[in-house]
Amino acid sequence: NTFESLGLSQEILRAIEDMGFESPSEVQDKTIPILLEEPTDIVALAQTGTGKTAAFGFPLIQNIDLNSKKTQGLILSPTRELCLQITNELKNYSKYYKGLNTVAVYGGASITDQAKQIKRGAQVIVATPGRMKDMIRRQIIDISAIDICVLDEADEMLNMGFYEDIKEILSHSPSSKSTWLYSATMPKEVSQIAKKFMKSPVEITV
Ligand code: AMP
Repeated sequence: NTFESLGLSQEILRAIEDMGFESPSEVQDKTIPILLEEPTDIVALAQTGTGKTAAFGFPLIQNIDLNSKKTQGLILSPTRELCLQITNELKNYSKYYKGLNTVAVYGGASITDQAKQIKRGAQVIVATPGRMKDMIRRQIIDISAIDICVLDEADEMLNMGFYEDIKEILSHSPSSKSTWLYSATMPKEVSQIAKKFMKSPVEITV
């Protein structure tokens, strides 16, 4: 398969060309057409290194309405390192979308600086659960209008004890959103999250 055949926009295809990706990886091939087509919940069993960041990043970016500055996409990830890595990748993927702002929100750094960036308008937020919960409680971040929520490395987030934070965060999001869950393993706890917070998700294994 080719990236062109997946239904990606010209802007994203140009960014892909700049990055030198030649063809879609398996997880990209199997999930991007589904995620671009219509609102869907998805559970993908995929390890790091499979290209999963682009697999959710491309369709998420393509779904953003640039005429609005509201937060439309939220990605939760277990660590600050991963949060920054995803943010960098998303900025790369969206470089031809002028006015698309992606902001990283994570613990151990100034909340004031992050709040300033949010105030300028962040259509996409990449966050660790603890800091995200804090910023929602302080009413710095409003996720009441998001279309897409990505739970990346769900097994890791649960291992790190983020269940309650995730639950609280999701309670502030609309039930109309799509949830895309990625996990390297599928322990009981992850299937329970999928059952509790997702609507008959499509399951993909790579
Ligand atoms: P990830 O699994 O998202 O951590 O991605 C692993 C690495 O593969 C990242 O450095 C990506 O930039 C890169 N990558 C993602 N998709 C592709 C692709 N289709 N072709 C080549 N490299 C890719």
